[in-house]
Amino acid sequence: MLFRSFMGQPLHLKAYGKVNLGLDVIRRREDGYHEVRMIMQTVKLYDRIILERNHSGRISLRTNLPYLPVNEKNLVYRAIDIIRREYGIKDGVSANIIKRIPVAAGMAGGSTDAAAAFVGMNQLFSLNITQEKLMEYGVSLGADIPYCIMRGTALSEGIGEILTPLPPVPGCWFLIVKPGFSMSTKFVYEHLTLDEHTVHPDIDGMVDALGRRDLDGVAGRLGNVLEQVTKQHYPAIDELKTIMNKNGALNSLMSGSGPTVFGIFTSREKAENAARACRRHPAVRQTAVVRPFNKSLHAKPSVHTNR
Ligand code: ATP
Repeated sequence: MLFRSFMGQPLHLKAYGKVNLGLDVIRRREDGYHEVRMIMQTVKLYDRIILERNHSGRISLRTNLPYLPVNEKNLVYRAIDIIRREYGIKDGVSANIIKRIPVAAGMAGGSTDAAAAFVGMNQLFSLNITQEKLMEYGVSLGADIPYCIMRGTALSEGIGEILTPLPPVPGCWFLIVKPGFSMSTKFVYEHLTLDEHTVHPDIDGMVDALGRRDLDGVAGRLGNVLEQVTKQHYPAIDELKTIMNKNGALNSLMSGSGPTVFGIFTSREKAENAARACRRHPAVRQTAVVRPFNKSLHAKPSVHTNR
């Protein structure tokens, strides 16, 4: 991610968000973690992380969101701290976190910021840490962080640390809609019941569809077992999915533990049109029309925030 930095020269990083095209929970482990099978897709909606070395001997954070912690509760702080301790770094580090990924919304915003901080620290101090080792540090902080370091389309298994790269989702646009409420991942997992009535998404079928570059096959298999929990508390999830599907989406789904809802569209125009329809829903606070992350694509995302 971007430039080599020396003392006083800032390092600019982009921390991309993700959506889950498929999210299945296999079982709850004895240690309380959940064993999952997820299909992850990076999207071109990103936070900016600006890291800088200084002589203060400590870590300092700033962010554009007044309600985000700027101490050790922030995952960026913790990632910087891990690397400083592991490599005996005495220099101070400042991080400016410019958030655009909705917070506590199922898009791995905190995890991807931490991933960028791990990668950035490696560059800032020329540590030559391998990606594999960075992913090891990452999983000690959060199950989604190794994926956020790897990015792209991937099958994520175990607690999220067993990653298999997959062929990229075929050319499409995502409409991302964030309602004005947040969902705690912990709460959703705690309230998930897995029994014979649970409808599990067809993860293997989606892997096959990706292999065939079959967008309809991917869209037709969107599924998330966590939707049943979040939907009980927020009917807006289903309402937004209906609006998207009536306005040209191939299909739509809640991402992660929600409440972000996304739709898959074959053109930017269709996605923008559905975004206008979604913004008329009173629960909607933020919409974004973005491409999946794919290095060969350079289209600019359009982000709209309701006041
Ligand atoms: P996931 O999809 O991995 O479950 P999420 O998108 O639902 O994550 P986050 O945006 O990562 O949720 O935020 C979850 C909590 O993490 C928030 O309550 C927030 O206070 C805390 N947090 C710590 N560091 C950050 C960060 N850099 N950005 C966003 N949230 C952070």
